[in-house]
Amino acid sequence: MELQDRLEPVISVAAEHAVAVDRDARFPEEAIAALRESGLMGLTLPPDVGGLGGGPQDMITVLDAIAGACGSTAMITLMHFAACAPLAAAAPSGDPELLADMATGRALGTLAFSEAGSRSHFWAPVSRPRLEGGTLRVSAKKSWVTSAGHAEVYVMGTQTADGSGVDLYSIRSGTEGAEISGGFTGLGFRGNASTPMMFDVALDDGMRLGDSGAGADLMLGVVLPWFNLGNASVSLGLSRASVAAALKHTTGARLQHLDQTLSALPTIRAQLAKMSIELESASAYLEKAAARVADPQDDTALFVLGSKAACNDAALRITDAAMRVCGGAAFSQHLQLERYFRDARAGHVMAPTADALYEFYGRAITGRPLFDPPAETDTSGAEEAAA
Ligand SMILES: Cc1cc2nc3c(=O)[nH]c(=O)nc-3n(C[C@H](O)[C@H](O)[C@H](O)COP(=O)(O)OP(=O)(O)OC[C@H]3O[C@@H](n4cnc5c(N)ncnc54)[C@H](O)[C@@H]3O)c2cc1C
Repeated sequence: MELQDRLEPVISVAAEHAVAVDRDARFPEEAIAALRESGLMGLTLPPDVGGLGGGPQDMITVLDAIAGACGSTAMITLMHFAACAPLAAAAPSGDPELLADMATGRALGTLAFSEAGSRSHFWAPVSRPRLEGGTLRVSAKKSWVTSAGHAEVYVMGTQTADGSGVDLYSIRSGTEGAEISGGFTGLGFRGNASTPMMFDVALDDGMRLGDSGAGADLMLGVVLPWFNLGNASVSLGLSRASVAAALKHTTGARLQHLDQTLSALPTIRAQLAKMSIELESASAYLEKAAARVADPQDDTALFVLGSKAACNDAALRITDAAMRVCGGAAFSQHLQLERYFRDARAGHVMAPTADALYEFYGRAITGRPLFDPPAETDTSGAEEAAA
């Protein structure tokens, strides 16, 4: 079956319920049921586990299209793809059915990375497992988990037991001690249930992704390319829908006394032109980034860093301009533009935030390491004081 044939029913169900999902801040159950049926949950997983074996270009096509229908559904789908990536690269040995469940739509996945203690610096969890009566346990306070309470698989990051690195664990829903610990009322993506969670759980090697300490490389080398491209494509799907809605409104709405449409105003036409050009530029950049991830080259990391920042910020400008050219009609919620506008605010604060990405990109092109080494603690004064 063609990708478009799988996509059509998901988009149509997502569009039908998008306004209610946003208004009532409820999980898009209908659209996620359609997604489970469509086979698209296996888009990026290999055929030997029942997946479609699609690449980054397929993923951005799918997410862009879903975002134009329902931002919350697109974000939930993105988090599933982001969870699939490390699970496929380093499948936990204790859950042999996991990938097949995710590929066939039985198990929706998500990431539980961000912690209250390290905020958007998801690569630096502050939770550290401890041994309790011979069992390794962790108490990890996760600040935002999309699809919390709806997903069947949570990829959770925590420190290694000795604190020297990061481990990722796959936690099935229903695991004792994995609980939602708050609510979610967001400005945008109001249906995606991004609530805080507490993981007060026992851990074993069979749940771990890869060898102990492999988590940091999985987060930055495997999750990040897929997450950044996918997040960028959600931003562009919202932008594309905004440009279309703005064109439709400004070419249709009339100034009766002048016998002309809004688009007869040169200032409006100029704004529409800028929005369209920025959308096409960002799309071309994202296409190139996806091609680089599919076929890695020396500059692939730069495209991974740059694509999310560029598309997130393009979406802020494009959706803002769309609100502006459509005036009160946009403000009064007729056109759904204000939903795209609100949803588009999330991309740049999702980690790695756009500002953090500019910092990383700047470091990369000026020959600096992405992260500074931990500062040496100067203990000389303390020793003197003690002496
Ligand atoms: C809708 C939504 C869904 C989410 N879903 C998930 C999820 O499923 N799983 C998950 O793990 N997390 C999720 N998150 C959390 C997200 O990834 C971030 O961790 C969170 O948004 C950061 O918010 P904060 O207030 O802690 O940001 P802070 O870290 O407090 O950032 C505040 C400001 O500081 C800036 N800043 C921080 N560090 C740097 C830096 N190094 N360089 C430059 N500027 C910097 C930021 O850009 C920002 O402007 C979600 C967030 C949102 C909004």
